[in-house]
Amino acid sequence: MNSKPNVYFDNTKLAFAYKTDEELKKSRRLFWWMHFPLLLELGIFLTNLALKVGLPVKGLVRNYVFHQFCGGETVSDCQGAVELLSKFGVGAILDYSVEGKSTEESYQHTEDAIMETIGASRGDTRIPFTVFKVSGLGDTNLLEKKQSGAALVPSEESSLEAFKSRVFRLFEAAFEAKVRIMVDAEESWFQDQVDDWVEEGMEKYNQESAWVYNTYQMYRKDMKDRLKAAHMRAVAGGYYLGVKLVRGAYLDKERKRARKNGYRSPIQPNKRATDDDFDKAVKFCINNKQRIYLICGTHNELSTLIMTELIDLHGLKRDDERVYFAQLYGMGDNISFNLANAGFNVAKYLPYGPVAEVLPYLSRRVDENRAIAGQSSREYEYLNEEIKRRKKLPKFPKIA
Ligand SMILES: Cc1cc2nc3c(=O)[nH]c(=O)nc-3n(C[C@H](O)[C@H](O)[C@H](O)COP(=O)(O)OP(=O)(O)OC[C@H]3O[C@@H](n4cnc5c(N)ncnc54)[C@H](O)[C@@H]3O)c2cc1C
Repeated sequence: MNSKPNVYFDNTKLAFAYKTDEELKKSRRLFWWMHFPLLLELGIFLTNLALKVGLPVKGLVRNYVFHQFCGGETVSDCQGAVELLSKFGVGAILDYSVEGKSTEESYQHTEDAIMETIGASRGDTRIPFTVFKVSGLGDTNLLEKKQSGAALVPSEESSLEAFKSRVFRLFEAAFEAKVRIMVDAEESWFQDQVDDWVEEGMEKYNQESAWVYNTYQMYRKDMKDRLKAAHMRAVAGGYYLGVKLVRGAYLDKERKRARKNGYRSPIQPNKRATDDDFDKAVKFCINNKQRIYLICGTHNELSTLIMTELIDLHGLKRDDERVYFAQLYGMGDNISFNLANAGFNVAKYLPYGPVAEVLPYLSRRVDENRAIAGQSSREYEYLNEEIKRRKKLPKFPKIA
């Protein structure tokens, strides 16, 4: 008889146990606004402007949007959220979320910030991974130029080497601290070089276990084959393949660029094709569990369910270190907390950074909720249900 508890994603009591009534209402209000993404975008644009001219709107942003999706402004600010998540068996992935800056000073600053997250994760089981975006560490125009096949001039070659060194210093530090580190995937026009670096990192550091993970975006038509090829190379090279599977966040941007430049879009023709490849990739990774460590980064309930069933079917322990689920802080709580309650490994990206500087990140969350049919309404419905459920609970008088 199977004694493992089933997973239900509609248990809102579990999903939102970490939120007070007031916080729940605040989240519901925010997700209601997500039904009007253009208005929200306008709001973010105006807020950005207001912050630039020094108007006192920071408190407003912090109170109404920032705390929904971010752990705080610094690593130490995040400790409260880290502790709260861990009480419910959910890990945190500190994610330095300052985006879109491109000066040598900011690259250095980003490297230092990620080093700090590695330091904070060392020996702390509440923080099972750390993460970074390559675009925060160097000029992605160089990556794009290289990928296009154009020759780099010597100064560009040396900038690229310095860029790569930053990436490898992070791998080295994570490996030395025994902290698993993942690299986010970004736009297809500079991803090849990132993939090469991360794979080189895996070959170097993943001999005994997966310390370095790459991200595979299944909304790309070629990604299933690329994943299989990466697996073959890992088998041939005798190292573990660290895989974070996602659908992909830059759909509109990818399609727009392909149209503008007159090449065939690398993106799947429709959502169904993305879903099919995502679920096939989950299956492929679990089938090859001897060589692959998998993090399933999704808010999709069906894909999550498929993976839970595969884990059980393959006789893996639900908390086997090779299989993890991940969601973003402030989203997909019904998935994260219900998975953790059923004994699966789960962690949430916990973004942090100065309020004004994480606005691009927040703006992407809004975009994402627009790109994901029904995501914001689903979040809204779950929050609504929980508020209604709590209202029905008998009220006991407070003991003085
Ligand atoms: C922990 C975590 C880490 C992440 N890391 C990254 C990362 O490194 N890089 C990255 O790019 N994204 C990343 N994402 C975002 C991710 O790629 C998705 O955008 C987001 O999670 C929504 O997809 P889903 O599987 O959760 O949900 P779903 O709602 O099932 O899927 C929505 C996604 O389906 C795809 N889609 C929607 N419409 C179409 C269409 N018409 N044709 C083809 N495909 C379509 C898009 O990818 C869209 O985002 C991450 C997400 C999570 C939870």
